[in-house]
Amino acid sequence: MSQNLPQRLGLESHNSGVCGVDWITSPGGERVESVNPANDTAMASVQAGSAADYEQVVTAAIEKFTEWRMRPAPARGEVVRQIGEALREKKRELGMLVTLEVGKIKSEGEGEVQEMIDMCDFAVGLSRQLYGLTIASERPRHRMFEQWHPLGPVGIITAFNFPVAVWAWNAMLAGVCGNTMIWKPSPQTPLTAVAVQHIVNEVADKHDCRGVFNLCLGDVELGERMVNDPRIPLISATGSCRMGRRVAELAGKRLARTLLELGGNNAMIVSQHADQDLALRAVLFAAVGTAGQRCTSLRRLILHDSIHDAFVDKLSTAYESIPIGEPWNDGVLMGPLVNAQAVDMFERAIATIGEQGGEVVRGGKRIDRAGNYVEPTIVKATPDMAIVHEETFAPILYCLKYSQLEEAVAMHNAVPQGLSSAIFSQDLGETERFLSAAGSDCGIANVNIGTSGAEIGGAFGGEKQTGGGRESGSDAWRAYMRRQTCTVNWGGELPLAQGVKFDV
Ligand code: NAD
Repeated sequence: MSQNLPQRLGLESHNSGVCGVDWITSPGGERVESVNPANDTAMASVQAGSAADYEQVVTAAIEKFTEWRMRPAPARGEVVRQIGEALREKKRELGMLVTLEVGKIKSEGEGEVQEMIDMCDFAVGLSRQLYGLTIASERPRHRMFEQWHPLGPVGIITAFNFPVAVWAWNAMLAGVCGNTMIWKPSPQTPLTAVAVQHIVNEVADKHDCRGVFNLCLGDVELGERMVNDPRIPLISATGSCRMGRRVAELAGKRLARTLLELGGNNAMIVSQHADQDLALRAVLFAAVGTAGQRCTSLRRLILHDSIHDAFVDKLSTAYESIPIGEPWNDGVLMGPLVNAQAVDMFERAIATIGEQGGEVVRGGKRIDRAGNYVEPTIVKATPDMAIVHEETFAPILYCLKYSQLEEAVAMHNAVPQGLSSAIFSQDLGETERFLSAAGSDCGIANVNIGTSGAEIGGAFGGEKQTGGGRESGSDAWRAYMRRQTCTVNWGGELPLAQGVKFDV
């Protein structure tokens, strides 16, 4: 790390990972090292929270909720606006920390912070638009309407691959909606979480809102403690399908709300009517960008059989020219995987591909250098291969063939996940077919755009085993509030609905 960066972000060589109203100076959990995946050097450490520390943080969040929920929503929006300003000031440093801790290239690290800023802007506007409906009452001199109230302290569990943006998707909406929150970041990315908490605390100090945005770094056990906690009405969890299944099971036992943002297995159909150059460029970013570690990364490329071989050849040639290296260097387009376990998982997947009859046409090996680098990989596959139906969180792209669009759509939808999807075609009938009710079954469906790189203005999330949650834009805010239907009788009679008579 450059000398200036820790200082600008308030980081020490050893940090507390727990903050309620104040930082807990010596939390009782594990000491977690933050390791740079590009060279495996330890950058700093963060102390996670124990059960007792968690209790302190929850108490802070519960106490603050009684005040925060009564602050006018636009006043809450002003706090969020200032968080956005503070993020603008530290965009480069925080973006670089994302690069150093996750291995994303520089522009993606900064892009992630820009996404946080965009979320702040969006949430500020939203703070004046938490609208409810007015509904015609069937009873004379009655008024019926809906209003939206905050829920309480919200639990936010985040994944390593978007260590700060996913927090902002949740926190900015939860905050303007009047909730307090407890963030449990991934132990893989503890330092970015500490840096964000420092930025938020500075703003909180100016607005008497310590206790609104809280942090408790922890392992799976601590995460489950939060999921099981009856004082937390909503758990928003981002991560693997395996994690989501467990969270849903535990939260379901206490009938708590969940907002699940889980794994994807995203596909793109490229028809014979596509602009192939455009499609090729889109494939490169979607499949190789972030070293294949986005939930929306392109994993399956479904090519019309008349263009399949030539397209795969062109793609292989383009893969040769992707600059791979230290993600903070200008010009690099692919950095490392997040850790050694991810490289092992990549190698196991390559072995399984061979066993299941797939042909690696490009890549397939770990790169012999310091850090956790692998080659971006292209595989000729068939849809019956079991591994094609799984999310392998690495830059492995399966190329599949089709002859009729119906067959391509069926192949596209025949996986358990349902996050992001795309079609490349200049034929209106084909693209509309893809977007129709008989088309893509995903939460996100794009035409002539790759599967990754969503804007914050839309609701983000997916169907089936991706969990069904929606975060970020559109009306995703409703997940963080409770709806109340109110009826006011302003007349002197007491008429009953459905004409029921009950005269005493
Ligand atoms: P992960 O499932 O290993 O961990 C995610 C988070 O869940 C971590 O904070 C982890 O500590 C916590 N966790 C794990 N088990 C838990 C449990 N039983 N109870 C409570 N918390 C628990 O995921 P990861 O490796 O960090 O991230 C990669 C995965 O996340 C991929 O599957 C990717 O597709 C998915 N993801 C999805 C989205 C989305 O919006 N759909 C966004 C980013 C990442």
